Amino acid sequence: MTDLGLRYSRYVNGVAKKHAEVSNAMFNMETVDWITNGVHPTTWVSSGMRKLYNKHIPGWELDPGRLVQALTIPKEEVWAAHQASKLRLFARVMETNGIQLDPDILTLGFARRAATYKRADLILTDVERLKKIAGKNKVQFIFAGKSHPKDDGGKRLLQRIRQASKQLKDSVTIVFIDNYNMEIASLLTQGVDVWLNNPIRPREASGTSGMKCAMNGIMNFSVLDGWWIEGWIEDVTGWAIGPAPSDAETQNANERTYDEQNDALDLYEKLEKKIIPTYYENHDKWVDMMRHTIALDASFFNTHRVVHEYASKAYSIDFRGM
Ligand SMILES: *Cc1c(COP(=O)(O)O)cnc(C)c1O
Repeated sequence: MTDLGLRYSRYVNGVAKKHAEVSNAMFNMETVDWITNGVHPTTWVSSGMRKLYNKHIPGWELDPGRLVQALTIPKEEVWAAHQASKLRLFARVMETNGIQLDPDILTLGFARRAATYKRADLILTDVERLKKIAGKNKVQFIFAGKSHPKDDGGKRLLQRIRQASKQLKDSVTIVFIDNYNMEIASLLTQGVDVWLNNPIRPREASGTSGMKCAMNGIMNFSVLDGWWIEGWIEDVTGWAIGPAPSDAETQNANERTYDEQNDALDLYEKLEKKIIPTYYENHDKWVDMMRHTIALDASFFNTHRVVHEYASKAYSIDFRGM
């Protein structure tokens, strides 16, 4: 059916540039174009950030491209709005998990469908290293996720996270929130400090939860796959995990073309040497990165831009005079 659809459609697109490249290689096509996904701004922005954008960037709801002006929002206001969302998330964690989290500790979030290629447990590759890095309450984690009822591998991943959260409770705080849904996704993508994403490349077609974070000025810490290849500027909008994508892996999407274990090493290195020091020792830079995340990523990875692209590229609607 995929081949049939591909050959007889007037227009075919992937949901990120990389997705189009992989699709062209997989299906022996040359014409698969891309329209990179976006998220619906008012669905995913926190009420605090929305008020901030309304105040400083009038008209942004009708034209989220105007979020490029986020660099003019005073840093202390960005931080205050962010901490409000963080406290709201932590209140929920207290209610559902009975765990009191400290809002001054760097908090990484990870929530998605628990498909095995998304590697929810990559952070547990070297538990001793993780303990050293997170030691003395330098970083805490909040996880959420659901697997398909028939995906036993996915279920095992979630069990592993839950077990680790119990076993490591005296050395690394890992909270697992049950019943992942849009409400939990909302709380997390508005309230954590960094969004972790470490799939096996090049299998993440897009990865929209990272865009939800960008809408709230939250940096991504992610494998260079899907939308992140287009949204990533190192130390400006977030951080990459692992090497830049290669042509070989695009051509052989189902083969292992690089050492995936290196992703875990790189994750530990960057968390320890870049992310933790910036959070605790360079607050100014941190909040400036938050503003750049809004200005560079939220201004583009939104549904207003997506609908325009579909209308003009896929449906050939002429906007002149509209
Ligand atoms: C956004 C969202 C997803 C998709 O997130 P990905 O980053 O693409 O995995 C899945 N489930 C829920 C509940 C979401 O809100």
